[in-house]
Amino acid sequence: MKHMNIALDGPSGSGKSTIAKELSKKLDILYLDTGAMYRAVACKAISLGIDTLDEKGVSSFIDDIDLKIEYLGGTQHAFLDGKDVSSRIREPEVSMAASNISSLKCVRLKMVAMQRDIAKSMSCVLDGRDIGSFVLPDAEYKFYITADAKVRTLRRQKELKEKGFDVDFDQLLREIEQRDYNDKHRDFAPLVQAKDAVLIDTSEMTVEQVIDKILSFIERK
Ligand code: C5P
Repeated sequence: MKHMNIALDGPSGSGKSTIAKELSKKLDILYLDTGAMYRAVACKAISLGIDTLDEKGVSSFIDDIDLKIEYLGGTQHAFLDGKDVSSRIREPEVSMAASNISSLKCVRLKMVAMQRDIAKSMSCVLDGRDIGSFVLPDAEYKFYITADAKVRTLRRQKELKEKGFDVDFDQLLREIEQRDYNDKHRDFAPLVQAKDAVLIDTSEMTVEQVIDKILSFIERK
C-alpha cells in the first residue's frame, strides 16, 4: 500500500479518537493521537509547578522535554522522563491544562515537528485540531469531525465514568465550550476546518456509519 496520512480534526468529544482507532485497524496503519502529546506536556508543567499559560516558564523546558510516543500491543503510550503517563494524561485536571498549554507557540512548534517526523516515516491516521490545516497540509485525506456540544459532553461524561471519574454534566459542558473557544481562537494554528477537508457531523451517527463514510471517500478518491 502506498504511504498515506489521514487527518481527522475537530473539537473535543466529536468522536475523533474512537473513529481514528477503528480506521487505523481497518487500514492496518498507525494511529497517532496528537492530543496525548499536548496532555503529556501539560503534565510536565504541572509536575514542575509551572503555570500552563506561562510562556516563559514553559519555554524553559519544552526544547529538552523527554517525551516519547511508543506503541505497546498496538496501543499508543506516552512516556515522560521515562515514565508511562498514559493514564495520568486522561485525568480531568489535565484536559484544561492541555488546552491552555497547547495555545503556546513554543509548545506547538515542538509537537508539530514530532508529528511531522512520525507522519513522514509511516502511514498513519492522525487525530487533532490542526492536522489538515497546519501540520500536514498535503495529507492525502482530510476529515473535519464535529458534533453538537451537548452530544459531545454526554460522550465525554460516559468515557470519564468508565475510567472512574464522576463529572457533573453542566460543568463538563462549560469546560468543553471553553476548550472549543480556546482551540478556535488561539493565535497560532487554531482549530479550523481545512478548505479541502470533508465535513462529517457525527451527532446522530454511529461509529460504524462514520467509518463507512470515511472509507467510501478514501476508496473513491
Ligand atoms: O484531543 P484531546 O482532547 O486529547 O486534546 C487535548 C488538548 O490538546 C485539546 O483541548 C486541544 O486544545 C489540544 N490539541 C491541540 N492540537 C492538537 C491536538 C490537541 O491543540 N493537534
